[in-house]
Amino acid sequence: MTAKTKEIVAVSTLAACIAIFFVIDIVFGSVVMNRPTEPEYILVIPSVRHASINVQSYISNPIQTLTMRGALSSFFPTKLFGTSYRKTRWIDNVNAMYQAYRRHFSMIYLEYNIPKKEYDVIFVLKKNNRRFHFANGAMLPNEVYNRKKHFVPYYYAYPTDGCVMITRYPVVFTDKLYAMDRNYEFYYDLYGRTRKTINDQLEFIQFGRFSFPMNTGTECYEAAKSVFKEFELLRHSTPKLERWFNSIKSISSFSPRTIANTGRPSTHTFSIAMDILTRDNRPNYWYWTSKLRKKWWTVPPEERAYIPPEVIEIFEAHGFCWGGKWERYDMMHFEYKPENLLRMIR
Ligand SMILES: [Zn+2]
Repeated sequence: MTAKTKEIVAVSTLAACIAIFFVIDIVFGSVVMNRPTEPEYILVIPSVRHASINVQSYISNPIQTLTMRGALSSFFPTKLFGTSYRKTRWIDNVNAMYQAYRRHFSMIYLEYNIPKKEYDVIFVLKKNNRRFHFANGAMLPNEVYNRKKHFVPYYYAYPTDGCVMITRYPVVFTDKLYAMDRNYEFYYDLYGRTRKTINDQLEFIQFGRFSFPMNTGTECYEAAKSVFKEFELLRHSTPKLERWFNSIKSISSFSPRTIANTGRPSTHTFSIAMDILTRDNRPNYWYWTSKLRKKWWTVPPEERAYIPPEVIEIFEAHGFCWGGKWERYDMMHFEYKPENLLRMIR
């Protein structure tokens, strides 16, 4: 064969292969052209034994748990937080709640109320067999489910791209979200209800000369331990970071108290949050700033107390959200809210 013939053979073989591939694709369906644009989500039912259950007028059917694709809702939490905040679907929120606390559920199933044409996901706690309705993230026990519109979700809007949530001036205090309640039964069951029962679940973490307790009711304590293990390396990685870590004055976690201006228990109540206070005296916490400066929200992010982005990233990687991203900024505050971060992952 001449070089020319070889070339012709090679080109036509290649063309034939491409043609055959497309024929196969057309005949056998979408190999290349028609990939589903959204991943499938299937709720895992850890205990199939209980999957079929009859409770009052509700009927749950294990087969229906596999048809979640049709159950996508248009839950787009808010327009308040600009482009940094991605739309999350109902199913992403359900999955985030499942992923965040999966070791603590004995079963999860989709429940249909056929006369009302409503559905919801039920999470059953392993610890006490208590049922929680997902209720758009509010995690409601049966007794308050008929008042579901009064309760806010456990997760909240949280940008994962490093952006701070400031889009409106001035910040409106009477927004609807803050007028609503959160039902804390889910946290009470996981982390303890009274000072004593919470205290019984605490384990201390050591970091240099600091020592603070975190709650072992979920993976919070282990996650915090991993964060500070990474900090042992991070703190010596650059002079800037070394200076920041050396400027830490205190790390405090457990403190039974309510959130300023709301009456809701703070995540410090459950010891799933910590405040890292440094010698940086710039505006740190909106509530303190509001005492000195009426328009506390006008302090630009770069003029607030500094927290290194590496520190924030490590916290987020382990399920902690940073209060510095909130409109009501709290630069020293980190809280264990894995559901917030997981809901942004598809
Ligand atoms: Zn705090």
